[in-house]
Amino acid sequence: MAQSTGRHFLQIPGPTNVPDRVLRAMAAPTIDHRGPDFAALTTELLKGLKPVFGAAGPVVVYPASGTGAWEAALVNTLSPGELVLGFETGHFATLWREMAEKLGLSVDFVPGDWRHGADPGVLAERLRADPEHRIKAVCVVHNETSTGVTSRIPELRAAIDETGHPALLLVDTISSLGSIDYRHDEWGVDVTVAGSQKGLMLPPGLSFNAVSEKALRTSENARLPRSFWDWGPILAANRQGAFPYTPATNLLYGLGEALRMLEEEGLPQVFARHARHAEATRAAVRGWGLEVLCADEREHSGSLTAVLLPEEHDADKVREVILDRFDMSLGAGLGKLRGRIFRIGHLGHFNDLTLAGTLAGVQMGLELTGVPIDRGGLNAALTVLGAP
Ligand code: PLP
Repeated sequence: MAQSTGRHFLQIPGPTNVPDRVLRAMAAPTIDHRGPDFAALTTELLKGLKPVFGAAGPVVVYPASGTGAWEAALVNTLSPGELVLGFETGHFATLWREMAEKLGLSVDFVPGDWRHGADPGVLAERLRADPEHRIKAVCVVHNETSTGVTSRIPELRAAIDETGHPALLLVDTISSLGSIDYRHDEWGVDVTVAGSQKGLMLPPGLSFNAVSEKALRTSENARLPRSFWDWGPILAANRQGAFPYTPATNLLYGLGEALRMLEEEGLPQVFARHARHAEATRAAVRGWGLEVLCADEREHSGSLTAVLLPEEHDADKVREVILDRFDMSLGAGLGKLRGRIFRIGHLGHFNDLTLAGTLAGVQMGLELTGVPIDRGGLNAALTVLGAP
């Protein structure tokens, strides 16, 4: 690798760049997690998280990556052998399905082409075909980080309501929370799964479940084995500002600072910023003469863009050259998209010039690897960014 100077460009779709303010907040002495200062911190954080989820009810915080919060959502609400409905929107939906099966659930997994979100029409059809209510939960990944496709949760909710089916709605917002408009209560979501390392601008290591009243009631009779993930003891301890185990104290300091940053900017502005950066990125991709993987205009992700390369070109080679020459990391194609796409993360702690630099690096990398492109791509993005 060439000698690198300046800051590394971390433009993968998470973990994202951690703001200096958050890093500084974490660089404080670790305190007694059973003491009064910690109880005050916990109480403030649990309150501060609610508006970010759009949830009036509890948000459970785990010292775990997002995968842990996936497991928590399943084991707290379901019993062995029960049926859940999932949608093959991409790599992460596939991993969640595999987890559900390992836990002893049955999964009806609606096949997908990894270029579209979950289809509300298909959801309504599946639920109508289940008059005995065997389907206990519908699992949807809001923003498929492997494809840059965002499923339309309000329309999926409407499809469930239209059938009168009582299945729970479990939604993974790991790469959308704090980046793309999301409303746990208003959209009737029962469990929202989230992680710290993307829109929340923290390092990896915290994950979350926002829980509806219906999900809480269901958890009283759910029989999948659970211990560490059990909401019950955590919610009980949280009432005293505590946790039933040692929490990730310094990540929680960072969380407090990240919540302050989101509040200062204002969530509507945060979402608008992400949408605008996504639009500028798509303008660049199309300007280069390349294809955005997401195939539905209504489902473009605000947090990342997946770029499809012509078949004879290797997306991993492009990423390798860009890392080597320009010290920038881009997201790899995952699962069946390996080598076919690369992903540009434009979420979290990010601004116009970070995007301009990112897209300049991508354009130069495409040229260096011989991918035929039109140099107008970068200009098309700058036109979006520079619009009055
Ligand atoms: N779900 C989505 C949409 C993700 O993007 C990821 C990770 O990137 C996960 C789940 C898994 O989360 P983690 O890697 O934090 O365990």
